[in-house]
Amino acid sequence: MTQINDFILLAQIDEDIHEIESSQGDLPNRIKKLESKKINLEENKTIFSDKEIEASASKKDLLIEKDSYSQKLEKYKDQLFLVKNNKEYDALNSEIDVAKEELFRINESLKSIDAEKLEFDEKNKLNDSDLEDCEAKLNQLNDSLNDSINDYKDKYEKLKIDRDKIIKKADVSILGSYNKMLKAKGHGMVPMLNGSCGSCFTVLPAQLVTEVKQNLDFKYCPSCNILLYYEED
Ligand SMILES: [Zn+2]
Repeated sequence: MTQINDFILLAQIDEDIHEIESSQGDLPNRIKKLESKKINLEENKTIFSDKEIEASASKKDLLIEKDSYSQKLEKYKDQLFLVKNNKEYDALNSEIDVAKEELFRINESLKSIDAEKLEFDEKNKLNDSDLEDCEAKLNQLNDSLNDSINDYKDKYEKLKIDRDKIIKKADVSILGSYNKMLKAKGHGMVPMLNGSCGSCFTVLPAQLVTEVKQNLDFKYCPSCNILLYYEED
């Protein structure tokens, strides 16, 4: 086998490798993004649950306090009937005022805790449903990725082995220009298309077309400098 045929084979192998790699598309990237989104949602869940616990504890304390002031208020009201003078009456009334103010403050706090709890419940529900969606999508993408890898695994590994074999015996300078174009254009060597370059589509001189058609020696596109070969239809 001549060197040029090795490079034609290499170009075809690289096309197949490229096709397999692009068949997985942006799956690995999408999976990575979803995984980090999932971590965020799980962190949110912990925050909401901590807030819930905190709110329940505050509410419990406030209810105990409310009970105590309500009992005091009832007791003071009963005592109003037993006062012996104005001084006692005024003192009792000022205690009643304090208890009423405290009860008002406690009720306001309870209201704001309930409102806050409601808000976090809503946020938590939304977060849960986002988390569920995220997990479902992640499972789906992971399945697709596994299928895609399994479908092509053997073929892909064989292509890589074949590629290594060719590269080991390839001319270093030709391989250098092949790799340079592969990196820049995604193709190291392209077939001629109806007398034009398969990469930049420049129409090639008739003499060059004839030479390329022979597949005997390395020929480059005079415009973009990519290696050319001839592929029979
Ligand atoms: Zn070209």
